[in-house]
Amino acid sequence: MQTGRIGVTTENIFPIIKKFLYSDHEIFLRELISNAVDATQKLKTMSSVGDYKGEMGDLTIRVFVDKKKKTIRVSDRGIGMTTEELDKYLNQIAFSSANDFLDKYKNETNAIIGHFGLGFYSSFMVSDKVEVITKSWQEEVPAVKWTCDGSPEFTIEEIRKEERGTDVILYLDKDSKEFLEEDRIEQLLRKYCKFLPTEIAFGQEKEWKDSKYVETGKDKIINNTKPAWTLKPADLKDEDYLKFYRELYPMGDEPLFNIHLNVDYPFKLTGILYFPKIKSNIEIQKNKIQLYCNQVFVTDSVEGIVPEFLTLLHGVLDSPDIPLNVSRSYLQSDSNVKKISAHITKKVADRLNEIFKNNREEFEKKWDNLKLFIEYGMITEEKFYEKASKFALLKNNDDKYFTFEEYEKLIKENQTDKNKTLVYLYSTSKTDQYTYIEKAKNKGYDVLLLDGQLDVHLINHVETKLKDSRFVRVDSDVIDKLIQKKEAAESKLTREQQDDLRSVFNVKPKSKEVYNVVFETLDENEAPVIITQSEYMRRMKEMSQLGGGLNFYGELPDSFNLVVNPNHPLILKINEDLHSTEGAKLTENNTERKRLKEEISFMEKEHKKKKEEEVSQFEKDDLEKSRKELEAIENTRKEILESYGTANKLVKQLVDLALLSNNMLRGEDLSVFVKRSVELL
Ligand code: ADP
Repeated sequence: MQTGRIGVTTENIFPIIKKFLYSDHEIFLRELISNAVDATQKLKTMSSVGDYKGEMGDLTIRVFVDKKKKTIRVSDRGIGMTTEELDKYLNQIAFSSANDFLDKYKNETNAIIGHFGLGFYSSFMVSDKVEVITKSWQEEVPAVKWTCDGSPEFTIEEIRKEERGTDVILYLDKDSKEFLEEDRIEQLLRKYCKFLPTEIAFGQEKEWKDSKYVETGKDKIINNTKPAWTLKPADLKDEDYLKFYRELYPMGDEPLFNIHLNVDYPFKLTGILYFPKIKSNIEIQKNKIQLYCNQVFVTDSVEGIVPEFLTLLHGVLDSPDIPLNVSRSYLQSDSNVKKISAHITKKVADRLNEIFKNNREEFEKKWDNLKLFIEYGMITEEKFYEKASKFALLKNNDDKYFTFEEYEKLIKENQTDKNKTLVYLYSTSKTDQYTYIEKAKNKGYDVLLLDGQLDVHLINHVETKLKDSRFVRVDSDVIDKLIQKKEAAESKLTREQQDDLRSVFNVKPKSKEVYNVVFETLDENEAPVIITQSEYMRRMKEMSQLGGGLNFYGELPDSFNLVVNPNHPLILKINEDLHSTEGAKLTENNTERKRLKEEISFMEKEHKKKKEEEVSQFEKDDLEKSRKELEAIENTRKEILESYGTANKLVKQLVDLALLSNNMLRGEDLSVFVKRSVELL
């Protein structure tokens, strides 16, 4: 029997390990099994090149839980260790790298441990004592047992062990009883070891017999040793990819496409990414990619390793070149990680382009489920935008799909306005904006359907890229203004008449929506009254609903314009009727108004001639009085006009019709409208 102290300079390293790994105790099992797998793989390699000539035997790695003795045992039939190796690997190397680590990452409390040679020692996070019983593949070398109770002291002694390989036995401490539950261990094995390349057995398969589960005597194998991503794409069919998807996400919807990644240089990376059907709510879709390192599960949060939009994808990435022992912030600045990230982005774009080119029909069919992902990528990753703008599709209200380039060609001729700006018309709902879409179509215009969660964000982005182009929703202005081709027609009403009618039409419905009355000189065949909603305000409001610092807009009320066409015969008729019924009052009011205005302007001129202090209080009061009088006169005029408007059925009817065709006439307002319509008939 030999005793000694492990080669640590730090007096007692275990408390530090425990503290470091506090949040992630469960990884001890991953570390032990990875070591067992490595030892087994090494044996296989040695055998295949002829360095090992003996029998391989059953290479299954076995995990046992003994509740009574409070132990977990991991047993492999790999290469094993000689006394010298044990001393070298477990006593010296492990701790020297641990020291390096602690030195380097003193300040990185979130560091992930693993894959830097401290793996085995993570056993001490959960154990009072650890035993390693191992017999090397080399014949004539005795088996040895290493014991350590968590202090730097260890013992090594010879022991009898017939079979080649290593058993690691953990005597769990009192805080780690959870790991004595078989369910917990099985859960961990399935989480971390599901795709390891050596079979791992835990317990026995059970079957349903005589109304209970009984053990069958057959090993329960936890893992699939040949997961699809490790195979050659040429050997896999669509079904195989689908089957593997099911293995990863038993509950998931069928994915749309997949990409098999296989990179050797300048870094190693394999994996399969799936495009899921993304309907809505980006958040819940995120973080489905699993990251592996040589088939060992590491994490399912890949932010920082892949660009954010790719976190919407599902699947696995496996790379030994992603440094796992560092914090996220460090990861993002790692040059390998940057290369990997850029590479995946490129591959994803290329694959989509390939599907688009080879099978446009299929691509179009899947577009609606795919577009959220692609749009997210286009908005957030410049490199992806460049590629995706070649295959991203626009859908119009007749469910036809176009690439950006095709669409530009389609509308170029007819939808360029007098300032040479190309106007992309769109709707966000076929039903809500039906009348506007129809109007545009009657003009020979095409209208896009942008009803996706990110559509508005995307067009905002696209507008900054396309030259001399803008997107407007069909209801954001009257059609002739949306794409203005010639100077506006002359108005048949004077400025003053329009001002009066503005008050006449100020008959707000009960529903709270705010509107401003504005005049647009349109053709007499156009509608007399139309509701429009400013593109800018609406878009900002919509974008604010998705977050992103635009909350201010989100809180504003919806703001609409009630556009009155002063050239329409009905509007002219209302104007005439106004003057025949209220003419006398209005003229009288106007005379008074004119008089006051002249008086005020005279007084103001007089005051200007003098210095401020020379204007007497009397003069000041006089001016103030006249101003007040004018205000009162203006108000009287407004009242005359508004009460005329309120009493005028035609005015009300026109406003309601405009509201109705914009889906804004509801509840009581709607029933009043129906009643009035019957009366008018
Ligand atoms: P790492 O696995 O990162 O090298 P570990 O501390 O987990 O670090 O292990 C140190 C070394 O001990 C391994 O590299 C290996 O040589 C040896 N070792 C650990 N477990 C086993 C095992 N089950 N069989 C054979 N050798 C092992």
